[in-house]
Amino acid sequence: RKGCVVITGASSGLGLATAKALAESGKWHVIMACRDFLKAERAAKSSGISKENYTVMHLDLASLDSVRQFVANFKQSGRPLDVLVCNAAVYQPTAKEPTFTAEGIELSVGTNHLGHFLLSRLLLDDMKQSDYPSKRLIIVGSITGNTNTLAGNVPPKANLGDMRGLAGGLNGLNSSTMIDGGDFDGAKAYKDSKICNMLTMQEFHRRYHEETGITFASLYPGCIATTGLFREHIPLFRMLFPPFQKFITKGYVSEEESGKRLAQVVSDPSLTKSGVYWSWNKDSASFENQLSEEASDVSKARKVWEISEKLVGLA
Ligand code: NDP
Repeated sequence: RKGCVVITGASSGLGLATAKALAESGKWHVIMACRDFLKAERAAKSSGISKENYTVMHLDLASLDSVRQFVANFKQSGRPLDVLVCNAAVYQPTAKEPTFTAEGIELSVGTNHLGHFLLSRLLLDDMKQSDYPSKRLIIVGSITGNTNTLAGNVPPKANLGDMRGLAGGLNGLNSSTMIDGGDFDGAKAYKDSKICNMLTMQEFHRRYHEETGITFASLYPGCIATTGLFREHIPLFRMLFPPFQKFITKGYVSEEESGKRLAQVVSDPSLTKSGVYWSWNKDSASFENQLSEEASDVSKARKVWEISEKLVGLA
């Protein structure tokens, strides 16, 4: 049978390119888990994904109720869950003030980390039950949270500190909106959320890989300078960023190529190792990359996991 893969945020950028690559392989049915139904349908259509290879299902990661509703709908669909790709993200580099999820949690960490945390915890049982030979849970990471790289050292740097803000619920009332308890900074909030994504993947690996056989992985797909992720940046940045990445840092990758990379992590028989953060070299060959000290800190991973469980109502 065909594999069934759920991809969050498949209505644009990396998620859409991955959906296309997998659908075209003929081996996958793609569940596009998106907040904007019409946009997702249009995106699928205009990128030529044929009807029998995808289903759009509503998911707004900025609402924990919506995450629970999505899980209920998915279970009701009767489809097996073979691979889950946590890809959606918001990035608000120019925001002066924080915005919030339905539950009143700072939006970047609330969407990118906590929404996905609840989603993957609730869907783990479905993955366990699937009879697919190579089951995988993939959480898209980023170089920007990795302070062992040049890009990860562009200020403001990611830093979770002692997580007092996260423990307080990032609500801006009786707690800070930033994980480390500092003043709101949209670019840093995004980087912090990506650290949480990479720590969560490793904690999943430690807790569940042996018992379930599921492969847990993260990746840095390259700098896809043309996606909607930069939609909130100033116009001059949006104009100069793609050529800068293309010609100066040489980290630029097209949406199509990035989609092929993530599709490899979903289905390539040689990428089954669990607990790995994949990256690609200049010849587009995959390799196991090193994470920064903070993004691979075992005790921080446990702490993020335990605080997150409380915030999403699992503990
Ligand atoms: P895009 O902005 O193009 O895609 C992000 C997707 O997330 C969109 O489909 C968006 O939906 C969706 N999304 C945002 N908020 C929600 C929500 N509340 N509920 C459901 N879906 C939501 O960006 P990219 O494709 O670039 O980003 C994809 C992933 O790649 C992210 O995890 C990002 O961190 C990562 N990444 C990107 C890099 C880059 O250079 N672009 C580099 C490294 C990592 P909608 O279409 O409705 O807006």
